[in-house]
This record gives sequence, structure tokens and C-alpha cells, in this order.
Amino acid sequence: MIDFSYTETQLAVRDMARELAQKVVLPNIQEFDREQKMNPEVLPAMASANLLGFCIPEKYGGLGTDYISLGLASEELEYADTAARVILSVHIGLFSLPVLTWANEAQKEKYLIPTAKGEKIATFGLTEPAAGTDAVGIQSTAVPDGDGYILNGEKMWISLADVADYFLVFAWTDLDKKRNRDHRGLSAFIVERGMEGLTTGTIHGKLGVRSGNTGFISFQDVRVPKENLVDQEGAGFKIAMFCLDQGRYTVAAGSCGLIRACRDECVKYSKERETFGVPISDHQLVKQMIANMEAGYEYSTHLWLKAGWLKNQGKRSTRATSLAKWIACREAEASAANAVQVHGAYGFSDEYPVERFYRNSKGASIYEGTREVHTLMQADYVLGHRVDKELERDLPVVEQ
Ligand SMILES: Cc1cc2nc3c(=O)[nH]c(=O)nc-3n(C[C@H](O)[C@H](O)[C@H](O)COP(=O)(O)OP(=O)(O)OC[C@H]3O[C@@H](n4cnc5c(N)ncnc54)[C@H](O)[C@@H]3O)c2cc1C
Repeated sequence: MIDFSYTETQLAVRDMARELAQKVVLPNIQEFDREQKMNPEVLPAMASANLLGFCIPEKYGGLGTDYISLGLASEELEYADTAARVILSVHIGLFSLPVLTWANEAQKEKYLIPTAKGEKIATFGLTEPAAGTDAVGIQSTAVPDGDGYILNGEKMWISLADVADYFLVFAWTDLDKKRNRDHRGLSAFIVERGMEGLTTGTIHGKLGVRSGNTGFISFQDVRVPKENLVDQEGAGFKIAMFCLDQGRYTVAAGSCGLIRACRDECVKYSKERETFGVPISDHQLVKQMIANMEAGYEYSTHLWLKAGWLKNQGKRSTRATSLAKWIACREAEASAANAVQVHGAYGFSDEYPVERFYRNSKGASIYEGTREVHTLMQADYVLGHRVDKELERDLPVVEQ
């Protein structure tokens, strides 16, 4: 049976995220975006509304909602500003859900409960100065030493780097495998702010996501206890790819919020602005741009919903998630470019939000798998060069 309706819980979650975005994110967004600062009210507001515990079972301090709810919340937050959605992507998609799936009970007790309750903020560090797409090209090492590891390296372009308390990071534990680029030598660790030798900083001068924090993490002889290794040595690559399946999903759904924001701003402006004695919404080429936004919104939404539907059933969604992420980000970028166009010169100024949408839309075609990566993945699935096996571990099935 095909059912296009949302459950009452999903609608309640959507409304809660919408209300928070409208009340806390939107009123001062222009100021924070201009100043390139995080609004200090956003994280506490998200924590007190329990938005940081989506999809995490109540026994671990979460809200216990399903994956469609996570998508709907991502859309609502990004409708207001991309940086607000990024918080959900890294905190839940790239940290809490992987910890829920891959960590042991002691690690869940220590790290998942406070993150699900919003008492601690978490993020994910894979990218390095010389390696993003080429994850096996990372240089960080975690050399076994007594009852722990000595972690050295540098992570770059990390969302919330200068804000987070916990970091899920990836490093080589097997240096022979590192030399041979064999990903089975990579391992995943949970590290904490405050560990000696761990420092973070903020990247300035970004094109977009300016009201969000993006930064770097540096590890200089950081002693990480054995208890902080996630799963086992050599499982790092599998865990990183699993993380991306969840983070990408929130990016896809969030991008639909950006497309909708572009569409709504254009509808409003095109009815007010007149040229040649008529509102510009009467001109067919302006209608074309708005129609494309509507089409992009609708089909991108269906793509992430399909991925969410698979996740709810505990089925692997790598292929569907990649397609949703690629297409939604592509449509968001096109919609934002056209939203500036519809606004003419006013779109070129931050008097209207569309220039912020345009700048914010670009990042999503780069992070969580670039546009090129997803294009190649989709081609490879169709060509039979890529086949997804059932995962060793997948998201827990959510009771509806
Ligand atoms: C705002 C923002 C937030 C981010 N947050 C995080 C985070 O929280 N955690 C984290 O770990 N990372 C994060 N990143 C990093 C992001 O994931 C990487 O930037 C991304 O993976 C691309 O890597 P790169 O920048 O090194 O580009 P490169 O990998 O150097 O790629 C450069 C170009 O070459 C293309 N290319 C590379 N390889 C191929 C290939 N085989 N075939 C075809 N084309 C190819 C790419 O598509 C791209 O166009 C963030 C980035 C941004 C901009």
C-alpha cells in the first residue's frame, strides 16, 4: 500500500521544529550571518525542545521518533537557515545514530545519553587538510600504546568543531595498511574536549553557513583510552560510510527546506515587484523559474522520503540516500540561483534572504559526498559496478 500521509507524531515533530526555527533562528539570522557568528540561543533552544534526541530510543535519553520525523525537522530548520539544520546533521546523523548502532553499552551510557538529552554537543571528524573525498588518504594515526592509543593528526572543515564536546574521529591504527591504502587499517574513536593535546579552532571567511561554526581539530599526542575505540580496530571505514548514510539523509531533507524557502520568497516578491505595468509574476520566464522550484521541491521530497521509509524498516538505504542527497542539493543550488535572479539587483544584496540561500546552497554540493561522488555512485549502481550488500549492522527498526 502507498500512503502519502504523515502520522500525528511526524506532524507534531515538524511543527515543533518549525516553531523553534521561526522563533529562535529567523528573527536574528541576518545579523548572525553578517557577523559570521553562531546565535548562542540556538543550541540551548534545540536541547530544551528535545530536538537533539531525535531517533534515539527513550532508554538512551532520546525522543524515540522515526527517521521521517528527523527528515521533516531537517527541512523545517533549513527553511530558516542551513546552519540550524547542520546541527542535526552532525549531532544526530553523524554522531548519535552511529554511536547507537556501533558503540558498546558502556559507550552509549557515557556518550549517547548526554548527547541525546542535549547536555553535550557532538560532531564527526573525517576530513583532513589533504583528504576529503579520498577518505583513505587521511593521515591521522592512532598508534596502540599500553591501555590506549596515541592520536596525532589534523581534521579540517569540521562542523561545530569549536563548539562540540564529543568528536567521532577516524585514524589509522595499522600503519602497514595505511601505506597500502587498505581501509581495513582505519579505526573510529570517540574523543572528548579536554583530552590533553586536543585543540580546536574556527575557520573564518566562509562562503556560506556563516551563522554556523566550522573549524579544525588538532591532535598532538592525545592519549585515547582503549574504551573509546568504537567497535573494533579496522572497522573505521565501515563506520564512516555508515555515518555518511545518515548525515546525507538530513542534508537531502534539509535541502528541500532551502528549495521551499526560495520558492516562497519568489512567490512573495514576484507579486509585489512590477515591470511594464504588471507584477513580474505575470511574466512567463519568471513563472518558469518558480515552477522549476516547485518541481524540484516535490521530486526531491519524494526521494528523501523513500530513503526514510527504508530506514524506518531497518533496510539499507545507501543508494536511495545518495540519490536523494545528490538531487535535492542540485535542486537547492539551482533554486537559490534562480531566487536571486527573480529578485534582480535586490537579490544581490542581503536586504533579502535569497543571497544567503544562494551562498548556503553551495556547501551541500560539497559536504557529505560531493556532487561528483553521488553522480558516480548512481552511474555505478546502474552499470552494475556497485552492489550494496546487507550491512553488518544497520539502524534499529522504528516502531510506528
Ligand atoms: C561547510 C562544510 C562543512 C563540513 N563539515 C564536515 C564535517 O562536519 N566533518 C567532516 O569530516 N567533513 C566536513 N566537511 C568536509 C567535506 O566533507 C569535504 O569538503 C568533502 O568531502 C570534499 O572533500 P575536499 O573538500 O577535500 O575536496 P576534494 O576531495 O579535494 O575534491 C575536490 C574536487 O574534486 C572532485 N573529485 C575528487 N575525487 C573525485 C573522483 N574520484 N572523481 C570525480 N571527481 C572527484 C570533487 O568532487 C571536488 O569537485 C565540511 C565541508 C564544508 C564545506
